[in-house]
Amino acid sequence: MSVSEFHASAEAMAFIQSEHKCLVGEQWLAAADGRTLPVYNPATGERIATVPSADKAEVDMAVAAARQAFDDSTWSRITPVERQKLLWDFADLIDKNAKLLAEIESIDNGKSAVIAELVDIRVAVDFLRYMAGFATKIEGRTLDVSVPYMPGARFHGYTRREAVGVVGAIVAWNFPILLACWKLGPALATGCTVVLKPAEETPLTALKLAELALEAGYPPGVINVVTGVGHEAGAALSNHPDVDKLTFTGSTEVGKLIGKAVMDTMTRVTLELGGKSPTIVLEDADVQTAAQGAANAIFFNHGQVCCAGSRLYVHKKHFDNVVADISDIAAGMKLGSGLDPNTQMGPLVSTRQQERVCGYIQQGLESGARATTGGGATEGPGFFVQPTVLVDVDQNTRVAREEIFGPVLVAMPFDDMDEAVRIANDSQYGLGASIWSNNLSAVHRMVPQIQAGSIWVNCHSILDPALPFGGFKQSGLGREMGHEAIEHYTEVKSVLMNV
Ligand code: NAD
Repeated sequence: MSVSEFHASAEAMAFIQSEHKCLVGEQWLAAADGRTLPVYNPATGERIATVPSADKAEVDMAVAAARQAFDDSTWSRITPVERQKLLWDFADLIDKNAKLLAEIESIDNGKSAVIAELVDIRVAVDFLRYMAGFATKIEGRTLDVSVPYMPGARFHGYTRREAVGVVGAIVAWNFPILLACWKLGPALATGCTVVLKPAEETPLTALKLAELALEAGYPPGVINVVTGVGHEAGAALSNHPDVDKLTFTGSTEVGKLIGKAVMDTMTRVTLELGGKSPTIVLEDADVQTAAQGAANAIFFNHGQVCCAGSRLYVHKKHFDNVVADISDIAAGMKLGSGLDPNTQMGPLVSTRQQERVCGYIQQGLESGARATTGGGATEGPGFFVQPTVLVDVDQNTRVAREEIFGPVLVAMPFDDMDEAVRIANDSQYGLGASIWSNNLSAVHRMVPQIQAGSIWVNCHSILDPALPFGGFKQSGLGREMGHEAIEHYTEVKSVLMNV
């Protein structure tokens, strides 16, 4: 069946084809200069919608609306229990609309609607509910202070955690709803207000989330959404002097630009950036389980995962078997429209991404690597790329060092644990790593040696709201999820009373 034979529900199509506007305060606005951005269906390459191409003028208005809402007593005096309930109600509405959101996400991004509903939206809802619980548990400490240079004086010291203020949130296109919720959850739980800028490739579900947020009862201005391109709307938000905290998910290249921009105003910043995460299969691993796990680690979401296991290091004893198994899995994957329930891998998000990924494969082949399966784009419409496994790869070539962000695995053998640790750490990135082994002491010896924010053992890319997630080295600054996220959305205030 061709990709064009799969259709979304009438409700999803009605939303996609409606006139899209940015949410600023309580108003839905087009860009003041009337500019729009096209939105494409990656499975067919067809233009399906347009959204406003917001620039500095709209970002200024959105930040002003967020500031006003932050200062306004409706939001600033809301109790923790009310904040908790609102966030829970918002999560309920997302849950209720899960099928619709999954279809819109699938058409906008290319991913499977079934997986979007089961994973992206399920995880987003669970995450918002987890964060809702924090609204009532934001605590300071009571401190017994000494002040030795004031003998005889008595003090009462305590700390408060207060909402950081207006949050600018800029996200990537690979998990549009989920990444937006990773920002909205802690911001709303702590009492911040938000200006969200979705990726230009996938703006639609952020606008649907904005609608649901108003329906949940958030006061106008607490959540604002501006659609636009990175170097205009994104740059305006990251340079804005009235934004108190910038939270960014995207490439390391853009993360560095944002990091420099925010230092001018000391805007608080967290950066969730790129990765080139290793999957390490040790000598005593269960080889079949490890091969299936390594295939999932790279091919889930078409390899467009920041912590994808894109470098595979296998003990030399098992290398050929593991590579053969993964290559068979890759060759057997069904590519197709995200709306086809049988699809195992959809198209990449854009023609630009398809060209970028195919360019990397080509470079790898030219630098001496060999594809055991895959090797380029598929024939026909849509932005599809074959799942590809490269062997005979030199660790110093671009395919082994740079983030490809597509379904391309580079596989290399190693001789012993020391070599595995050395090559796994031989990267500017440090987002995640997985170790596949049944030798408990080997795993325990390896975990502290691997430079990565998340280590998975006999699994990969498994995330939970309670587990902090973020990068070592150039994979980012700060952590999302868990208790750590709350710290990044609050300031600590010390209070000392002379009693
Ligand atoms: P990108 O950096 O090109 O874009 C991300 C966002 O930044 C988009 O909204 C874009 O419009 C905006 N942007 C672009 N230029 C900007 C500028 N000059 N100023 C301000 N904003 C700007 O990344 P991408 O291609 O959309 O996403 C892929 C990248 O995201 C990969 O590197 C991936 O690893 C990373 N990512 C990281 C995580 C994580 O949690 N660590 C999660 C998902 C994706």
